[in-house]
Order: sequence, then structure tokens, then C-alpha cells
Amino acid sequence: MKKVVVVGAGMAAVRLAEELAGRAHVTLLGDEVHPPYNRILLSAVLEGTHAVDSIAMRVPEGVDLRLGARVAQLDRPAREVALTDGSRVRYDALVLATGSIPTLPPIRGLVRLDGRLQEKVHAFRSLDDCHRLDAAVADARRAVIVGGGLLGLQVARALSVRGLDTEIVEGGDHLLRSQVDEKAGRILARDLRRLGTTVYTGARAVRMTDAGLVLDNGFTLDTDLVVLTAGGRPSTALARRAGLTVRRGIVVDDGLASVDDATLHAIGDCAEHAGRTTGFVPPAWEQAGVLADRLAGGDVSYSGNRTVARLRATALDVAVLGDPERTDGEVVEVTNPVLGTHRKLVVREGVIVGATLVGDLSRIGLITQHYDHARVLGPAEPGALLLGDRPARPAATADDAEVCACAGVDAGAIRACSSLDQVRETTHATTGCGGCAPTVRQLLATRPTLEGTRS
Ligand SMILES: Cc1cc2nc3c(=O)[nH]c(=O)nc-3n(C[C@H](O)[C@H](O)[C@H](O)COP(=O)(O)OP(=O)(O)OC[C@H]3O[C@@H](n4cnc5c(N)ncnc54)[C@H](O)[C@@H]3O)c2cc1C
Repeated sequence: MKKVVVVGAGMAAVRLAEELAGRAHVTLLGDEVHPPYNRILLSAVLEGTHAVDSIAMRVPEGVDLRLGARVAQLDRPAREVALTDGSRVRYDALVLATGSIPTLPPIRGLVRLDGRLQEKVHAFRSLDDCHRLDAAVADARRAVIVGGGLLGLQVARALSVRGLDTEIVEGGDHLLRSQVDEKAGRILARDLRRLGTTVYTGARAVRMTDAGLVLDNGFTLDTDLVVLTAGGRPSTALARRAGLTVRRGIVVDDGLASVDDATLHAIGDCAEHAGRTTGFVPPAWEQAGVLADRLAGGDVSYSGNRTVARLRATALDVAVLGDPERTDGEVVEVTNPVLGTHRKLVVREGVIVGATLVGDLSRIGLITQHYDHARVLGPAEPGALLLGDRPARPAATADDAEVCACAGVDAGAIRACSSLDQVRETTHATTGCGGCAPTVRQLLATRPTLEGTRS
């Protein structure tokens, strides 16, 4: 069997190992000491709704999982990787799934003389970060979150639920500015304020002092904790040193192979396909599925068309399909600041090419279905999809209605299962952000039985 070595044992790597189980000999080399876990749910652990054990990811039997194993170098001529402990591992095919690394915002006084973050300052990327922050919460009353993106909103909600006074500082003019427009950002800010979080937009943190975090607008926020969530960049150092083409991410072709070396591949946050890096689980898992097929001898291509971002945070609902802020098309939108909802479709030649939903995700299944299948809609349909308090028709009833955005699973696939365990095992639905779990339970409870189908 082909020997596939994967650098990284994160969300893309484990999904690849599951897909390849029994079809290749897979080795996962992960530098974290903890067994693989669902990174999306770290904020749920911080919030206290999930135990650490419950976010573990299942690694199939037969996979050679090595923890605390940091790869220092790729030796392409020898087809080997060198680990920091001096050992070497040979491969027939190598997959880089190294994820991303948080970027440090330019704030003076964040870092101590020994290069580590100040006592009060926290990153939030790994389970170790989560444990460290969790331990600090017990003695804290106030927290400032630097960065108003998806991660910042998750952390703010988690700390707020834990009873801390939370404040978000976002340098841009609105929250979630990489994904949504100003109207949606304003609705989110209003929701957060209602839930007890203070939001500063258009303000940059510039200095950390004993008195607190100093902003460029003159305010000083007195705080016990500062959490840095101001973005990350693909982890590409290994690939760069090995001479592979790297722009923002490791550049791969439609087969997810490096454009320089067909035995090397990249998936997940570290990969760049068609000029784009992603940073979310749905594309990482889709890439893992495509690459598994190719490594097992298939010829599926990755189109990179489908990008879905869904926020996992208590009492904040956001879903984004495609890149609605940077995609050309006619915009159809409905905003209700009183209800706290914003729905927007970008439509080109009758086809939905992007969408944003804030505050009400009841239409997400149906809209995703149209988006994925590139259905041509009549002139009145986009408006009808967005209007009213109920979806134009129940989203989850059609078999091809998407139910799980993370794993790309439709209602038909759920109905084909007889239990939640079987759903998890065979489709991976509910194993990502978990947002689809209520719909999955409802579909299982109402699925036609064999007798029911016959009568
Ligand atoms: C707190 C948090 C919340 C998130 N919430 C969401 C969400 O709600 N929805 C969503 O879609 N996405 C979310 N994301 C993003 C999502 O987690 C990532 O897109 C996903 O984990 C990407 O998978 P990956 O395998 O590429 O990277 P990762 O899961 O980050 O795994 C990469 C692994 O490789 C390891 N590694 C790196 N270099 C080496 C090396 N040299 N040797 C060995 N190992 C190495 C890293 O330590 C890491 O364990 C969130 C991320 C975070 C941090």
C-alpha cells in the first residue's frame, strides 16, 4: 500500500486519514501533544458547554498517529521528512496540513523580554491556549478581545457567557469585515451589545500598559485579560524552505498537488488554490475528500467554488456562502434592524453566487441548495426566498437540501441512516460546528420507516 505521510494532525488531516483508511498506509505527524480535536468547538469548551473529551476526533484504527512530533524539514530528493527529535519518516506521498498561525497585532508591550506573551495576554488557536485562558478566567472580571472577526465574536460570546465583562476592539469600520457588509456588521454589533458586550469599531489597540490596553482614540481599557483574535496566516514555512511555490498559502493545482512536485500536496488552511486560501472547515474537509480519492488512484478535481462560513457562537447566527462582498452580481437584500436580521443574496444571471444571513438561518438549507446546484431562479424568486418570517418552503424536506454545511451533507443522506451514530459515522454530519444537530435529529425522528414506505 502507498505510504502517505501527513504533516499536521488537525481537522483536515484527520478527515483525510478517515477517507483513506484501508486504502493507504497513513502516518499523521502532529506537533500538538493532545490527540486530535475539533478546533471549532474550542470556544464551546471555553464557554463551558462542552467537555474536552467530547471534542476529540476519531482517528481510524490502523492510522499511525504520532503526537508531539514536529516536522522540521522536508527532504524532497530522499522523499523523507525530518522531525525535530532527529528521526526521519519516508513517504510515497506527502500531505502538508499545517493549518495557520495567529498573527500578532502591532501593539507595543504585548510580548515580554523572553519573547512570550505578557501574563494577561492570550492567543486562542489551540487546546493549550484554551486551557491557559480557561485557567485565567476564574480570577478575571473583564476581558478585551482584539479583533472583531469570526473568532473574536466566538471568544467574546464564550467569555460573556462565563460572566466576564467583555469588550471587542475592531480596527475596521464594522465587525466581521472580511465576510459581511456594514449593515450586517452593525446588526451584529447591536446584538452583541444587547448580550452585554461593548463593541469599539474603527479603533486600534496600540499599547499594553499596567493601566490597561490603550486605543488610538485615546481610551484606555482597564482589563484583566486581553485575547488576540486579529487574524492568522497560512503556516507555510516548511514548504517555503523546501523550495515549493508559496504565495499567501502553498500553491496547489486542481488535484491539490504542489505545482512544483506531484508527490507533495497541501490541504486546509495552509493551501492556496486558484489564488485563494480559505480558513474554514467546510473547504478543508472537501479538499480532504478530493485528495483521498486522488491518492487512492481516482481523478476527482477540486473546483474550489464552494466556500461556506458559519459562526459557532451562542445566540449569534451568521452564515456566509461564497464571497458576497467581492463577487459581482445584482444584490437582493432585506434588513430588519428591529428584529436583528439581515439577509442578502448576490445573484448573477439568475444564479445565487453569494449570500449572507445574519440573525435568522431558517433559510440557509434552501439557499445553499440553490447555490450549490447553481439553479437558475425566476426574477421574483430571490426576493421570495428572503421575505416573510418562514422559509418559502421547508428547507430540510427536499432530499437534496443541504443540512450540514461543514461536511456538505444533504437531507437524503441523513434519511438513509437509522441512528445518530450512523449519521456521524457515514456522513460526518454533526461532527463539525454542530449547528445541524437539531435538524438531523428531527430528520431521523420523522424519516419514513420501511412499513411506512410500503403502505
Ligand atoms: C477557536 C477557533 C474557532 C474556529 N471556528 C470555526 C468555525 O466556527 N467554523 C469554521 O468553519 N472554521 C472555524 N475555525 C477554523 C478551522 O478550525 C480551521 O479552518 C481548520 O481547523 C483547518 O484545518 P487544518 O487541518 O488546515 O488546520 P488545523 O486544524 O489548525 O491543524 C493544523 C495542525 O498542524 C500542526 N502543525 C503545524 N506545523 C506542524 C509541523 N511542522 N509539524 C507537525 N505538526 C504541525 C498544528 O499544530 C495543528 O495541530 C476556527 C478556528 C479556531 C482556532
